[in-house]
Amino acid sequence: MQAYFYTLGCKVNTVETGSMAALLQQNGYTLSDTPEQADVIVLNSCTVTASGDSRMLKALRRLRVAAPHAVIVLTGCYVQAFPDEAAKLPEADILLGTANRSALCTILTSYLQNPHRMMLMKPFTKDDAFESLPLGADALHTRAFLKIQDGCDRFCTYCIIPYARGRSRSQEIGEVRREAETLFAAGFREIVLCGINLACYASDGADLADVVRVCAEIGFPRVRLGSLEPDGLTPDVLDRIADVPALCPQFHISVQSGCDRILKAMHRHYSCAEFETLAAEIRKRFPNAALTTDIMTGFPGETDEDHAETMEFVQRVRFAQMHVFRYSPRPSTKAADAPCQVPERVKKLRADALAELGVQMRTAFLESCVGRTVNVLFERERGSGFHQGHAENYASVRVPDIDGESRRGRILPVKITGVTEGGLVGEIDGL
Ligand code: SF4
Repeated sequence: MQAYFYTLGCKVNTVETGSMAALLQQNGYTLSDTPEQADVIVLNSCTVTASGDSRMLKALRRLRVAAPHAVIVLTGCYVQAFPDEAAKLPEADILLGTANRSALCTILTSYLQNPHRMMLMKPFTKDDAFESLPLGADALHTRAFLKIQDGCDRFCTYCIIPYARGRSRSQEIGEVRREAETLFAAGFREIVLCGINLACYASDGADLADVVRVCAEIGFPRVRLGSLEPDGLTPDVLDRIADVPALCPQFHISVQSGCDRILKAMHRHYSCAEFETLAAEIRKRFPNAALTTDIMTGFPGETDEDHAETMEFVQRVRFAQMHVFRYSPRPSTKAADAPCQVPERVKKLRADALAELGVQMRTAFLESCVGRTVNVLFERERGSGFHQGHAENYASVRVPDIDGESRRGRILPVKITGVTEGGLVGEIDGL
């Protein structure tokens, strides 16, 4: 049997798709590169924004047309958050939420023995445990992603994730060590820890800083943190991760707004001043750190003055990169029914202004790297005579290929000589 996977959304979704693929392969399935050849298609959905839903619907219909006879499994956040809507989608044969994916093989076997529509969405309870899935790290990559936490307890007023992912829960620390050891033994040199609210990792008295230390002890020369929420990064956690030389100085911390009035309306657990203090605390311990963020425009009630505050705030923090989103009302979230919804035209104007500022700040950050020597994990040879990789601060770096020798998977010092195409160029030190 051939299986084809199609993934939308975040890194956690990508990791889970890798795990589901590994699960099917362990049970005799082979992976197909195209839906046309597939007997089974698994579409892993995202529902963070309305556009995520429409991308899912488009993909579902296209996959059904491409493979009229395949069994289609629609899984992921859309199904978990909106089961009634998902149940109305005739293209999907099996509907599976964000839990119970470890039973995917059994579910498929039962379907194939007795084809009938299966609706397998399990409501979350506060006692749910972290669901372990097989490691699905792709050997074609040089960096391995490890999901160690799931769910979120925050219920920010715009966010559908707690409804799609349930309460915060963590992989048991011993299992985290075993999985990290397996990935290291498989030859990965960089491990990226990811979760839905990663900084909330907690297992048997261990927290995120302990996981970072464990990965470094195993031998990973680079340990990278996935997306973070501000309120989990206490000075104590920062002190302990700063003691781990393998920790990559790149922090993607979602701020969402630079206006206290809006942060309050979002039920975010920090003020602008507290976020700026966090940024200063990070830079005190990691002077060349890359601080990147997610920021939203057009939250209900946001005025031009609020937006102006956000523009000033991001310039004070000097982010190395900003992902700018327009507020997207999500059914069943508090903000969706809030008064003073901002017109799409205004959201777009504000998002464009922030994005433009983001480009300027990105360039300034990259220019600040010129003249420095950074360690680059090389990922691939670019046909055009270059080696390509990422520095510890996650800036993309390319160096000329002067001897045709592959550098893939190696970490080498590179002297940065310039900025180009949103990345850095340089020369391998000592060559
Ligand atoms: S902390 Fe993040 S994942 Fe949790 S509710 Fe808020 S925005 Fe959503």
